[in-house]
Amino acid sequence: MKEERKSMLIVISGPSGTGKGTICERLLAEDPSLTFSVSATTRYQRDNEIDGVHYHFISEAEYDRLLAEDAFLEHATVHAHRYGTLKSQVQQLMDKGLNVVLDIDPQGAKEVMRQRPDCVSIFILPPSYEALRVRLHTRNTDDPREIERRLGNARGEIEQMHLYQYAVVNDDLELAYQQVSAIIAAEKQRTARYIPVIE
Ligand code: 5GP
Repeated sequence: MKEERKSMLIVISGPSGTGKGTICERLLAEDPSLTFSVSATTRYQRDNEIDGVHYHFISEAEYDRLLAEDAFLEHATVHAHRYGTLKSQVQQLMDKGLNVVLDIDPQGAKEVMRQRPDCVSIFILPPSYEALRVRLHTRNTDDPREIERRLGNARGEIEQMHLYQYAVVNDDLELAYQQVSAIIAAEKQRTARYIPVIE
């Protein structure tokens, strides 16, 4: 029997600096069935970021235009910047049979879970608040004010972890990656995602 699977939407959230970006990058590099949904944002572009790869960096006016066109599957203001998942992009990727990874905050995740109850939701936790502080400072991608804002928001984000199906603590990156990878592997095998093709 040939195996065909319905494509899935995988929502990954966690406080800034928790390592979810690194976990997502490795998942995408190692599993060709996965692809990343590139969000649109009005946030400043960091030195290590590529427009169209990490985000679509757009102006406030362009963002407003997309909002008015109802172009977002979900959108939210996070750490005082605006971010949104493009409906058309997610649909095109899923139509190709790919499993789409969304790295989005809990407000957006809640909306995706409402619209797509069959999505897989995973929350990545830091081992401690102090570890988060150290990580945000050592990765050196944001200024001190932005870091404080992100740390201040972390507690509120962690309080929402019960909304997710799975939680993974990133104390050891390799272990956390293996755990997220195992969740995705198991989710692919759900009977509900199976399209039987009998030859
Ligand atoms: P960063 O600015 O560090 O790239 O992302 C900040 C936060 O915004 C992260 O929690 C990230 O998951 C979230 N985020 C990124 N893109 C989106 C999006 O399209 N929608 C929502 N709701 N959150 C997003």
